[in-house]
Amino acid sequence: MPKENKCNASLFSTTCPYCGVGCGVDVTIEADANADKKLTDLRGSSDHPANFGRLCVKGSKLLETNTISGRLLSPMINNKKASWDDAITHAASKLNQIIAQHGPDSVAFYVSGQLLTEDYYIANKLMKGYIGSANIDTNSRLCMSSAVAAYQRAFGADAVPCCYEDLEQAELLILVGSNAAWTHPVLFQRIERAKKLNPDMQVVTIDPRRTATSELADIHLAIKPGTDVVLFNGLLAYLAAHDTLDISYISSYTQGFAKVLNNCAPWTIDKVAKQCDVTELQLLSFYKLFSQTDKVVTAYCMGVNQSSSGTDKANSIINSHLATGKIGREGCGPFSLTGQPNAMGGREVGGLANMLACHMNIENPEHRQTVQNYWQSPTIADKPGFKAVDLFENINNGKVKAVWIMATNPMVSMPNRQKIAKALKKCELVVVSECVSKNDTLDYAHIALPATGWSEKDGTVTNSERRISRQRGLLPAPGEAKHDWKIMCDVAKAMGFTSGFNFDSPSEIFAEYTGLTKADNQGSRDLDLSALCNITETQYNRLRPVQWPVNKSAPDGTKRLFTDGKFYTQSGKAQFVVTEFVAPEQLTNSYFPFILNSGRVRDQWHSMTRTGKSSELTAHINRPYLAIHVKDAESLMLNNNDLVSLSAAHFNNAAHLQNTTLHYRQKNQVMLPIVIDNNQRQGEVFAPIHWSASNASSASITSLYTDANDKISGQPELKHAAVNLQKVTYQHYGQLFIQQDLKVEWLREYFDYFVTSPVEKGQLVFFATDQPLAVIKRNLQLQLPLYDEWIGASGTILNSICAMRQGVTTLILLITPNHIDVDPSWIDSLLNSKNVTSEQLHGLLNQQPDKQFKQGKLVCSCFKVGENTIIDAIKAGCNSVDSLGRLLQCGTNCGSCKSELSQMVKQYKPNKFFIEQDQLIALEAIS
Ligand code: SF4
Repeated sequence: MPKENKCNASLFSTTCPYCGVGCGVDVTIEADANADKKLTDLRGSSDHPANFGRLCVKGSKLLETNTISGRLLSPMINNKKASWDDAITHAASKLNQIIAQHGPDSVAFYVSGQLLTEDYYIANKLMKGYIGSANIDTNSRLCMSSAVAAYQRAFGADAVPCCYEDLEQAELLILVGSNAAWTHPVLFQRIERAKKLNPDMQVVTIDPRRTATSELADIHLAIKPGTDVVLFNGLLAYLAAHDTLDISYISSYTQGFAKVLNNCAPWTIDKVAKQCDVTELQLLSFYKLFSQTDKVVTAYCMGVNQSSSGTDKANSIINSHLATGKIGREGCGPFSLTGQPNAMGGREVGGLANMLACHMNIENPEHRQTVQNYWQSPTIADKPGFKAVDLFENINNGKVKAVWIMATNPMVSMPNRQKIAKALKKCELVVVSECVSKNDTLDYAHIALPATGWSEKDGTVTNSERRISRQRGLLPAPGEAKHDWKIMCDVAKAMGFTSGFNFDSPSEIFAEYTGLTKADNQGSRDLDLSALCNITETQYNRLRPVQWPVNKSAPDGTKRLFTDGKFYTQSGKAQFVVTEFVAPEQLTNSYFPFILNSGRVRDQWHSMTRTGKSSELTAHINRPYLAIHVKDAESLMLNNNDLVSLSAAHFNNAAHLQNTTLHYRQKNQVMLPIVIDNNQRQGEVFAPIHWSASNASSASITSLYTDANDKISGQPELKHAAVNLQKVTYQHYGQLFIQQDLKVEWLREYFDYFVTSPVEKGQLVFFATDQPLAVIKRNLQLQLPLYDEWIGASGTILNSICAMRQGVTTLILLITPNHIDVDPSWIDSLLNSKNVTSEQLHGLLNQQPDKQFKQGKLVCSCFKVGENTIIDAIKAGCNSVDSLGRLLQCGTNCGSCKSELSQMVKQYKPNKFFIEQDQLIALEAIS
C-alpha cells in the first residue's frame, strides 16, 4: 500500500528479493505524462522489523539491476517465439501425454526459494493434489533441507525457535558455517551493533576459513571441514563432565538424553581437538564459555547444512541447547539462517518432495486426508517424491520424462553439472519459467515461459525468523511476462483440471493457504495462520510483517517458539537425537590432495543473472578465483593471478592427470586464477559459486562436486570435494575493455580462458590465449567491422590496441606475456572518450594510471572507495573503522564492507599506533 502521496510520486513498501534476512524496502514510483511508471528511489524501510531501515549493498542497488535488458519477454517453443496459447497448450498436452503413458511419477517440478509463497502453493497443489505425484522439489533443498530435517527430528516440526532479537540479546553468539558479514549483511550489522552496545557479549565463529565474519569473533575455531558433529558431541560430553547440564529441563521437556550422552561420552577434549584439528586450549575456551553463559544462540548456515552429514550436524547443535535448556527464551536457541528470500515460504506450503502443504506429513494418512478434503482434489500423493539429486538422477535414467523448472538455474547450482546437462539433454520435455532470457539451464528448454520478477510479482515471502512480509507488484509485467502462479493455473486448466485453479489474485491463494493451516489443526501443528484466513484483499494488501504462528491466542504473531516447553512430537517432548561423525565422502589422496570449499562473495547473488548486471556490484570482486594458503601456493610454485586447472576424481580420473597436455588444454574445464589467502587452512581451497558458462569459460565449480548428499535430508555436499590443482600457462594474458557486449559464444571460440564483467562504460573481458597478438587483433577486426581505426602500441612488457569508431575510443585491449595488474576503473574511464592522449597510452604501456584512478580494488561500493585510498588513510593515522568512515565515508551507508575495513586496519595499521593506543590507555588510567 502507498505510504504517502506527493505530486505523481508514491512510496510503497516491499521486500528485498535476495537473502533470507528479508529486509523491508521502500520504493518511490513516479509516473510520467504517459502514465508509464518507473521506480525512482529505494531505501530500507525504517519500520520493517528485519532491518529497521538498513540495506546491504545488494539491496541498495536493486534499482540498478531491475532493468528490462536481458529479460525473457515472450514464450518460446524450441527457441522460436510462440504465443501464450500455444506454449500453454503444448506444455499441458505433452505433460498429459507423458502421464498417460508412464504415470504421474514420470513428471516433476523443480522450483525455487525465489518464488513467492502463493506461487509455491499452486505448484505444490498441482503436483501433489491433481497430478498425483510428490515429484516437486526446490533449490531450497540445496540450502537448508538438513536444518529442516533436524528440526523435525528434534521438535516434531520444521519450527525455527528463535527470532532476530535473540541474536542481539544473546550473551554468547556462536556462528557455525556462516559468513554472515557477506551472506546476511544486515543481520550481521545488527549483531555488530549489539556487541558494541554490550561489550560483554561474546562471539564465537566456527568455520574452516577465517572470513569477514570472524573479524567480530572473540574466538574463531578453524575446525577441519566436516567435523562439526565431533565438536558439538564433545561439548555435550564436557557439559556433563562439568555438571552444567539443565537436568530439570532435560527431565521435564525432553526424551532420549541418556542414549545421546552415552554416544558423546567417548569424545574427550584431546580426541575432539585431534579430530577437529584445533588446540585443546581453543576448545576449552569455547566449551567453558558455552557452559558458563546463560543466554546462548547458535546460528548456523550453509557450512552446516551443505554436507553429507548436515542433519546430524544440526541435531548435534540442537542437542547442546536442549541439554542446557538454552531454548524457548530470550537470547537462546539453535537458529538456522535461510539463504534465500523465500526458502521458508516454500517449506510452509510443501515445496519439498517429502512434505505436504502446511507442515503436514506426506506419510501420515490423516494429514493426506485433511489436505485432499480441503482441496477437494481428485487425488493426493501418498509417498515422498524425488529430492533434488535423485530427481535429476531419475531424469538421467529415464524414469522422469518431463521436468518443469521455475525460477532457478540447476545447471549452475546443482552438484555434478555434467550429469545435470546429460539429464536435461535427454529429457523428453523441459519447461523453464524464467524472467531472464539467458542462463545455463535455458539452453536445454523445449518451452521457455516468461515470468515476472521483483517489483512486478505480488505475494508474500517468509524470512529466517518466520516473518511473513508482502512483496508487492509495483510495475506492470514487461512484454508478455506473467506471474508464476498464473502460468501454473493456466497450464493446470489446460491439463483438464477445471476446478482448483480458478484464482484471480494472489490474495485469493493466500486465503486458501491460510485456511489450510487451520484445517484439522487445533494446536497439533506449528504452522497456524488461522488469524489471517479471513482477511480481505484490502487487508492482504495492507498486511504488515508478522511472525507465524498467527492465531487466536497470538493474533499479532509469535516471536519465539517453545516458550512453554511443549513440542510437536507425539509425546509433546523434544527429542535428543544420536548423531554420528561420518567423514565426508570425497576424501583427499595423493592425486586429489586439496579440499574444495565453496560459497558466496559479498556483492553477488546466486548465478548473477541480476547482480551481475551492475558494474558497481561486480567492482568488488570482478572475476572468479581460487583462494589458497601461501604455503600451498609456494609448494605448487604459484603466484597471485596464476591460472590453475581443477579436477576431481569423478571429473577426470587419476590416470588422465598423467596426460598433462590434454588436461591443461581441455576447454570448459574449471580454471581459476589464484588468490593467496592465509585465511585458508593449508590443504584447503575456496572458490565462489556465482560464475557460470553464461559469463566465463571455466568457472562452473559445481562440476567438481559429486552426487554425495545427506542420507536423511538429501541435501548435497557442496563444501567438500577432493581436487587436484595444476598450473596452466598461456602465451598471452589480456584485458579487453569494449563498449558493446561481445557474445559469450564468440569469446568461447577465440579464447581458452575468459571471464566477462560489466564496467561503467561497457564490458571487461579477462582472457588468456596462445594466439599471437596479430591473430587476436584480426579476429576482433572481423567481429567488429564498423570499428574504423585500430592503433597499436608496444612496450617491453605490455602491448595495447585502441580501436575507434567515428573518432571515439570504443575498444582498449591490453596484452602481456604475464598477468596484467592494471586498475580497471582507469581503463574504463578512457573508454568512449574522443581522444585517448599519447600520455594516457604511455601510461597504459607503463601501467602507471592517473593518480585519481589508483584506488585499487573497490572495497566500499556505496561511496566508491578503493583499497589503496583506504590503506593510505590507515597509514596516515586512521586506526579504526569509524575513523575511516569519518574521513572517507566508507562503511557508513550499507555497512557491507565494514568487516573488510576492520581486516585492513589490522593489516596496515603501523605498529606505532599500538604504542599510541597503549599510551592513551595508560594516560586515561592515570587521569
Ligand atoms: Fe536484501 Fe541485503 Fe537485506 Fe539480504 S541483507 S534481504 S540481500 S538488503
